[in-house]
Amino acid sequence: MEVSYSYLKEQFSNPEQILDDIRKLVKSGDFTLGKELERFEKSFSAFVQTKYAVGVGTGTDALRLSLLALGIGQGDEVITAANTFYATAGAIATIGARPVFVDVADDYNIDTDLIEDAITERTKAVIPVHLNGCPADMENLMEISRKHAIPVVEDACQAIGAEIDGRKVGSFGVTGCFSFHPLKPINVWGDGGMIVTNSEKLRGKLLLLRNHGLINRDECEFFGYNSRLDTLHAVVGNHLIKDADWIINTKIENARLYDEEFSKLPDITIPPREKSFKNVFHNYVIMVEKRDKLLGFLKGQGIDAKIHYPIPLHLQKASRYLGYKRGDFPVTEFQADHMISLPVHQHLTGEQKKYVVQKIKEFFR
Ligand SMILES: *Cc1c(COP(=O)(O)O)cnc(C)c1O
Repeated sequence: MEVSYSYLKEQFSNPEQILDDIRKLVKSGDFTLGKELERFEKSFSAFVQTKYAVGVGTGTDALRLSLLALGIGQGDEVITAANTFYATAGAIATIGARPVFVDVADDYNIDTDLIEDAITERTKAVIPVHLNGCPADMENLMEISRKHAIPVVEDACQAIGAEIDGRKVGSFGVTGCFSFHPLKPINVWGDGGMIVTNSEKLRGKLLLLRNHGLINRDECEFFGYNSRLDTLHAVVGNHLIKDADWIINTKIENARLYDEEFSKLPDITIPPREKSFKNVFHNYVIMVEKRDKLLGFLKGQGIDAKIHYPIPLHLQKASRYLGYKRGDFPVTEFQADHMISLPVHQHLTGEQKKYVVQKIKEFFR
């Protein structure tokens, strides 16, 4: 049996309704900004329970423009987790600021107890990442943010719909950043991103930053970027946002089944499941001693397991100029050697889930 990690074939097996709306868009010629984008921004901010949403080109740009809107740049430091997708650090580095990494905890997210040690006079923001769809410890983090007057920009690119005590991630920080890349929970037919915020001032700045700094057709307030969420993708997004709860809940059910089965196996470490958190399981990640062997075994059985991520950020060539070395973030490094992500997507069949469980049991027998 084949169990793929990707769900794109099944997800878009019947695209007719979306295509109908795209045909309408083509007739209207309304290819940038416009009504479809406004509609998507409104429904997205309603979904995340924030006042505003601003559609941008990518999740990476959502982070970059957030930092720029806060006036962050050359010489500033921004704290983030040592285990995240490259874009989190890339967004910091490419605006001239310095990424400062902090080790993670056993939930794979930034260890908030270590953040204060990393704060310096130059620290201008903290970017927690809700990795794998699991919320970071925002309660502790927001307390640190208030105490030191350092703004929080949330990287919620993997965590649309995740909650803490009923409050959606992305709504805690000054901005929340989302990605609609095809491999993210809500996905369009290419690249796309969204910034949510409750600040009218930040929203105003972000609207200009994404559109050349233009306050109207003829007047430029400051030099900005061209990073608008394409209207075509907003059309797709307007369809997918309706499926968001179904996608999320199906993945949570799949993860629950895995948790139940794997908690019986002493060779598997399941991360802590915080009761007040709604984890949306962008990835289902466990830790095992013989990870590489298990990965090879599963691949041989047709199960497309993955690693998120095998080489931590501080050990990447790109980070060399930052002066980190092996041993700096022991938990991140340990996890990188032991974690494995199993297919958990919303189109898995009951048989596929059973097969994954059965093969893993077989491996440890
Ligand atoms: C995907 C991702 C991003 C970047 O999003 P893009 O839309 O691909 O630019 C940033 N942070 C995290 C944690 C991600 O998973």
